Amino acid sequence: MSARAYDYDLFVIGGGSGGVRAGRIAALTGAKVALAEEYRMGGTCVIRGCVPKKFMVYASDYGKHIAKSEGYGWSVDGASYDHGKFMTRMHAEIDRLSAIYDRNLRNAGVEIISERAEFVDAHTLRLKTSGRTVTAEKILIATGGRPWLPSPEELPGVQHVITSNEVFEMEAVPKRLVVAGGGYIAVEFAHVFAGLGAEVTLVYRGETVLRGFDDDVRLAVHEGLKEAGVRVVTTCTFERIEKGEGGLTITLSSGHEIETDTILMAVGRQANTEGLGCEKAGVALNENGNVIVDDFSRTNIENIWAVGDVTGRMGLTPVAIREGHAFADTEFGGKPWKMDHSYVPTAVFSRPEVGTVGLSEAEARRQHGEIDIYKTNFRPMKNALNGDTSRTFMKLVVRASDQRMLGVHVVGEDAAEMIQTAAIAVKMGATKQDFDQTCALHPSSAEELVTMRTKWQPEAI
Ligand code: FAD
Repeated sequence: MSARAYDYDLFVIGGGSGGVRAGRIAALTGAKVALAEEYRMGGTCVIRGCVPKKFMVYASDYGKHIAKSEGYGWSVDGASYDHGKFMTRMHAEIDRLSAIYDRNLRNAGVEIISERAEFVDAHTLRLKTSGRTVTAEKILIATGGRPWLPSPEELPGVQHVITSNEVFEMEAVPKRLVVAGGGYIAVEFAHVFAGLGAEVTLVYRGETVLRGFDDDVRLAVHEGLKEAGVRVVTTCTFERIEKGEGGLTITLSSGHEIETDTILMAVGRQANTEGLGCEKAGVALNENGNVIVDDFSRTNIENIWAVGDVTGRMGLTPVAIREGHAFADTEFGGKPWKMDHSYVPTAVFSRPEVGTVGLSEAEARRQHGEIDIYKTNFRPMKNALNGDTSRTFMKLVVRASDQRMLGVHVVGEDAAEMIQTAAIAVKMGATKQDFDQTCALHPSSAEELVTMRTKWQPEAI
């Protein structure tokens, strides 16, 4: 059957980071493209992820900036925070961004279908609201993910919790908040709400937060939470939640109880494949419900691909975007390439902030054997006058045999900004000597990245 036997050359399911990029690039090559979005254009990142989250981080930071500005001679009396005012402004910006996504797609010639799409077979989709069926030669699954919650059997009272989706709709800052989870989303929101004046408790089943990150980074973030006034309860899970007169009562696995007003569960995410009809198209999923793909984002069905969070490879916006772009260039642009998932920089917008690229010390030892470690921990210049006691931590992980930089980890103000730039060098294969030969930029915190000369010796500690 020729391509013209189908309604579209490409049908994209999902208008988030990955789907939008793929649809736009494919359409710009002249392909006939449609994209279905069941909620709002822009997906998780724009509507209820990275973008509003970062705005909330900024909102929370202003309180601290105001308090600390006194050390620099400012007196800011009577400062107050209006959550409703902030939310209105934030949502206006989200609306603006969502409209830009919509416009860019249409300008590229993509037909936007504002309803849910589900597979009927490998070339056919049913549009849920209109009931219409459409066919496409190629189909891209870019349906992303959503917060995972335990069932009411697993956690009685789970109906009383909110997830990261609802955080962006909260009308007021709760007086007391319990955050469940130890991943970056849990940690970031614990800081946001502590900064906005809530009494925050973070409950995590592990020994410390941010599993998968370098151990020194994890420790620094754990300490940062405590310094921000967050009560951190580790090696504990929720047994049940009860609603009473005074609010919500959580019974922990330790037997202790916590009273609170709001519970934010950030204990993981799951792929949006439920009800998608993958089985009707024959698309294979793994045990977590993620679409199984190869390096070129191909599923087991030859005309179906999947990119972004739904594949469970690396849940980050720039990764979804690049996977979508690679797919479109390969399948429609005549320029085959695949996303390289190594040395992807990532940040945690905790306070202090984390920026990291490459391997943790433990992972580097596992993969490469002998490695050299360089570490520094200092009070940033800005804090000399403002009463802030927080410090900046930096760590370089270097392969001993050839001095290749395997990992750079920063915990401190502007860590994310520093790491984006350092990631270029690390990705290019820079060695420790390349860092050493780079002239420092003074006065900055980042200059410490190129001035670490002494190898860290465990026995010296
Ligand atoms: P999504 O952006 O989730 O888009 C999928 C879209 O598909 C959604 O709009 C959904 O409505 C739609 N959809 C689903 N099923 C159907 C269907 N059957 N028919 C039609 N439409 C459908 N990443 C970062 O890089 N940096 C960060 O700081 C960061 N912070 C985050 C903070 C939070 C609170 C969260 C939740 C995520 C954060 N992320 C961050 C992750 C980032 O948002 C995701 O990795 C990214 O959005 C994935 O893009 P995607 O295209 O795969 O899916």
